[in-house]
Amino acid sequence: MVTMNRDTETVHEAYAFVCLHCGHGWEEEYEIRHSTDLSGHRKADYYAHGVRVASPLTRADCPACNRGPIRILRPGRVNVAHAHLP
Ligand SMILES: [Zn+2]
Repeated sequence: MVTMNRDTETVHEAYAFVCLHCGHGWEEEYEIRHSTDLSGHRKADYYAHGVRVASPLTRADCPACNRGPIRILRPGRVNVAHAHLP
């Protein structure tokens, strides 16, 4: 059976962020849908809590201070990075 989603691969990834301005650290889980468009180009759409969002790699604002810059870490490393902040 052929479906529209046969080329879509969905993965879940959690990213950890830390704000270099205020030191706020947090984690967010994303659903990443890899698919191939009609031109044959691979693309990845990011969803958080069922809502399409921009790639976490382009995120630049901090929810605590609305400034930044934001540093992206792998999950579980927020506390380590926090300890190394000046
Ligand atoms: Zn901040």
